[in-house]
Amino acid sequence: MSIIFKKSVPGRKGVQLPECDVPVLKKIDSKYLRSEDAQLCELSELDIVRHFTGLSRKNYGVDTNFYPLGSCTMKYNPKITEKIAALDGFSSLHPLLPQLRRGGSLTQGALSVIYELEQQLCEITGMDAFTTHPLAGAHGELTGMMLIAAYHKKKGNNKKVVIIPDEAHGTNPSSASIAGFEIRSVPTGENGRIDLEKLIPMIDQNTAAIMMTNPNTLGLFNPDIKKIANAAHAFDAMLYYDGANLNAILGKFRPGDADFDVIHVNLHKTFATPHGGGGPGAGPVGVKKHLEQFLPISRVAKRTDGIYALEYNYPDSIGYIAPFYGNFSVCLKAYAYILNLGAQGLIDVSENAVLNANYVFHSLKHYYEVPYPGTCMHECVFSARKQTENGVHALDIAKALIDKGMHPPTVYFPLIVKEALMVEPTETESKETLDTFIAAMIEIAHRAESEPQVFSDFPKTTPVSRLDETKAVKNMDFSYIT
Ligand SMILES: *Cc1c(COP(=O)(O)O)cnc(C)c1O
Repeated sequence: MSIIFKKSVPGRKGVQLPECDVPVLKKIDSKYLRSEDAQLCELSELDIVRHFTGLSRKNYGVDTNFYPLGSCTMKYNPKITEKIAALDGFSSLHPLLPQLRRGGSLTQGALSVIYELEQQLCEITGMDAFTTHPLAGAHGELTGMMLIAAYHKKKGNNKKVVIIPDEAHGTNPSSASIAGFEIRSVPTGENGRIDLEKLIPMIDQNTAAIMMTNPNTLGLFNPDIKKIANAAHAFDAMLYYDGANLNAILGKFRPGDADFDVIHVNLHKTFATPHGGGGPGAGPVGVKKHLEQFLPISRVAKRTDGIYALEYNYPDSIGYIAPFYGNFSVCLKAYAYILNLGAQGLIDVSENAVLNANYVFHSLKHYYEVPYPGTCMHECVFSARKQTENGVHALDIAKALIDKGMHPPTVYFPLIVKEALMVEPTETESKETLDTFIAAMIEIAHRAESEPQVFSDFPKTTPVSRLDETKAVKNMDFSYIT
């Protein structure tokens, strides 16, 4: 497979246009014209179709194979939500269309989707109000941290510190830091949960917030959450819930009921938009009543006559954090997904996600080291420490899995687990698929003992084999694809 520019043939055309046979009305001023031809490749339509179809067949995705990438929830997303998002009435809407018009409006349906999605997310998470504006999980965290900063400022609280567990997703400290806070890290105890004896004395007048993920990135649920909330609230510190992955708790646990003050959720993990492809996402943020006045504008309100309208008059708002109303089509897919599954369907999602993760966990625990034993939630973390004794590392295991037709799990995260392999099977996978994965992982574990030297050659089935990853980033070389 060559890059498309290498296939270019001078003079070849994809579309043949006839000579212009009508008068040219206005010549473009020469200062706006190119002085050189655009550097485009010259190909026929068939060349282009073959090129991109070929590339698409090299793509690996959840629609083609198993993709157990921990912390990313690469689950199958039902096509009905894509169909709904592609409906002309939604996809052709311009964000500047008037909200209200005599004789009806073109945007009432879209506004009602945002309004009702906010209500659904409030019910799912136990919060009082939501904004759909943030465009990603990290953007939601930043928005949440800005809300907390606005809250403390309004109250005259001089608080600078945000406490974050050492297993947290890297975006947590980054978002809090960009919002102007200092970060203090709290260690994880032996049981894989935040070390309470270290945490409680850290909380004082200086504490603006504690950011938590529960279940945390080790896939473990923290039952001490009320204690932590009480300790934080005693100093008017806010409790932030990183809800990027809600797969384990839908219909089971509501962060709002555990006294969390702010939450973001990733629609592009749990709610029907795939994560990890670099495509559009959405990280709606939910708050309790005492933070609602700070939410970004605009907000969708439902008037007493049933008309939906955008409202801007919130003097304490942190202002705009995204153009228009966020990634509307991602919100629309989440809305359709929630309605499609219904309450019981959402409960089934979390029950099956947890069941599948525990099935994998218990099937592999005798082959790979388990840093934190016990029941896991939607994902499980192993360590390849045992295999490193033979010189086989987590990365080698990941590459070996590629040759077995499966996407590797997340490796080397969470950072506190040496040689981490983080598996999130998700609820959408069948037992047969899980059994194939488990068998592959067991075979790899055996091979790491009997033939460790072969691992450095994996993967062998891909267009390119093992790369020098540092060089590949810093010194791009296209010669291998000629
Ligand atoms: C994915 C993830 C994030 C960040 O979400 P993005 O949309 O990638 O910015 C934050 N926290 C956790 C726990 C995550 O898994």
